[in-house]
Amino acid sequence: GKPASEPMVLKGIELSFGALKAVDGVDLVIEPGTVHGLIGPNGSGKTTTLNVVSGYYRPQAGSARIGGCELLAEPPEARARLGIARTFQTPRIVGEASVIENVMIGGTVLGHATLAEALLALPRHRADEVRLREDARLALRAVGLEGLDEVRASRLQHSELRFMEIARALMVRPAFLLLDEPAAGLSTQEIKRLGALVSDVAARGTGVLLVEHHADLIFDICHHVTVLNLGQVLAAGTPAEIRTHKEVVSAYLGA
Ligand code: ADP
Repeated sequence: GKPASEPMVLKGIELSFGALKAVDGVDLVIEPGTVHGLIGPNGSGKTTTLNVVSGYYRPQAGSARIGGCELLAEPPEARARLGIARTFQTPRIVGEASVIENVMIGGTVLGHATLAEALLALPRHRADEVRLREDARLALRAVGLEGLDEVRASRLQHSELRFMEIARALMVRPAFLLLDEPAAGLSTQEIKRLGALVSDVAARGTGVLLVEHHADLIFDICHHVTVLNLGQVLAAGTPAEIRTHKEVVSAYLGA
């Protein structure tokens, strides 16, 4: 990947599961170097939208462009090459492998069906392996997991696995980073640390799409917020605008 210089522009994204319109005409722009929060009640289409960008789902309509490149025309494995990385709601790990190996597969993981396959695809050339290992070590340090490199991933706590997943995603030096509820299951203190990390990643030029339930985290670190309801954009704007948006407050923030 390379630092993003152009925004990712989603237009008119539509995706139905049978008769259910999970995403119903969503427009959204992720600017490089910013955090874009995607919030809304359960079932409003947040994760499905993220899955469209990551290539996991193919929408029935709409476009997702970075400059002249139409993402939706590219196979999922091309997304990594385009500098798009993601984390999952439930961290995906190879439990028997070491923490550093789980991070090293970051550069290859999107192109493989399973993590185990990605592990097998790690470079066999010593010099490449050394470089990859050094990158992974730095990524682990960046997320605050230094010292755990050689520990089996299955021994990590839930919160550590969440940070490990972010380290893995950083391995592609993502132009765009998609985070699916990264604060779920974290303590207040850990959420603070997560917020600082995500802000720092954005400050280095990455455009972040943050799907999240924790309103505090969203309002603390996002530059833009889009609120979904029933698969549609209910509101979009700065955190300050969203906080005081009448329909959002009554429909979602519950104040
Ligand atoms: P959110 O992330 O906002 O909670 P989702 O994007 O996960 O919402 O889901 C949006 C809607 O699509 C929900 O009604 C959900 O039940 C439905 N949905 C999501 N994934 C699938 C699927 N694979 N098959 C059928 N329905 C799905």
